[in-house]
Amino acid sequence: MPDTSTHLSIVVPCYNEQEVLPETCRRLTALLERLCVAGKIAQESRIYFVDDGSRDSTWSIITDYVRIGLPVVGVKLSRNRGHQNALLAGLFSARGDAIISVDADLQDDLEAIEVMLDRFHEGCEIVYGVRKHRHVDSFFKRITAQYFYRVIAALGAQTIPNHADYRLMSRRAIDALQEFREVNLYLRGIIPLLGFRAAVVEYDRSKRFAGESKYPLKKMLELAFEAVTSFSVFPLRLISFLGFIVFVGAMAVTGWALWVALFTARAIPGWASVVLPMYFLGGVQLLALGVIGEYLGKLYLEAKSRPRFFISQIIGDSVAGQGDQRERLPNGASPVYAKVQSHGAVDSQ
Ligand code: UDP
Ligand code: MG
Repeated sequence: MPDTSTHLSIVVPCYNEQEVLPETCRRLTALLERLCVAGKIAQESRIYFVDDGSRDSTWSIITDYVRIGLPVVGVKLSRNRGHQNALLAGLFSARGDAIISVDADLQDDLEAIEVMLDRFHEGCEIVYGVRKHRHVDSFFKRITAQYFYRVIAALGAQTIPNHADYRLMSRRAIDALQEFREVNLYLRGIIPLLGFRAAVVEYDRSKRFAGESKYPLKKMLELAFEAVTSFSVFPLRLISFLGFIVFVGAMAVTGWALWVALFTARAIPGWASVVLPMYFLGGVQLLALGVIGEYLGKLYLEAKSRPRFFISQIIGDSVAGQGDQRERLPNGASPVYAKVQSHGAVDSQ
């Protein structure tokens, strides 16, 4: 049944994406138009390009799109805050009943958006895009991702395997997400915690259309670390377990030493019995301290609860009057500002 009342917003985080942006915008606007003609979405549906402090011409490309009247809203962050924060800024700035997040590089098949919308119309509040396969990823990325999902599941965090940040969320789900105020963000772990009726849509993943990956190994490891420490205290438990094992071992060796001293004429063998356990225990203790420190560091960041992003400019939001920046500064308190305010803040340029 046609539903021209569904206001759709598509949120696209962009960091140095000048090579791929024209094609992404072309395909997304064509898709919006097609969905509009098919009566699946409302006229006011928009694409939100979030510029995550790019150093190339990404922002000027976005402003051009707004100027020529494409259905685009540009959200500019005050500096690079990373993919997860950029995504959050977009999700919280976007209007609409259904909000879809997708990467800028066209790796995720945009045709899945229509299927996601169908699930939404059937009453699902969250629709996860899941990759059917990973043929196009490098061998290294495939293996690390596979083990990562296994490890994270074993540690007790609920995630959807092979789902990145390509998903649809209803307004209600976004509102629920706003209640999560953690600074250490791993959205893929948080969204399943929201509950609500959910569905999965499978799609083919292709290679990046243009430009280079903005997720080098270092950022990937950081995200994996974030995921483990945000959703599991297992590493802390492991320390207690390790402590227990070492304690039992030490008691056994003490018993043996007493037995040798009291009941045999032999002497306890020399320096190795003293020095080796010392090194071993030193290592274990440092490791344990490191793990505790990691959690302590997180607590430190969470306790300070600094804003996760600052928006320096929003353009093309028609309700606020074609990108009139003053309307969304603190005293203007537009609806979007009021939403953003409690999570990040709008900068006064
Ligand atoms: N991205 C971002 N900020 C960053 C790094 C990446 O907004 O600091 C965006 C990037 O523009 C892209 C998405 O996050 O839209 C995913 O990045 P990428 O495709 O490079 O990651 P990969 O698919 O290689 O893991
Ligand atoms: Mg990509």
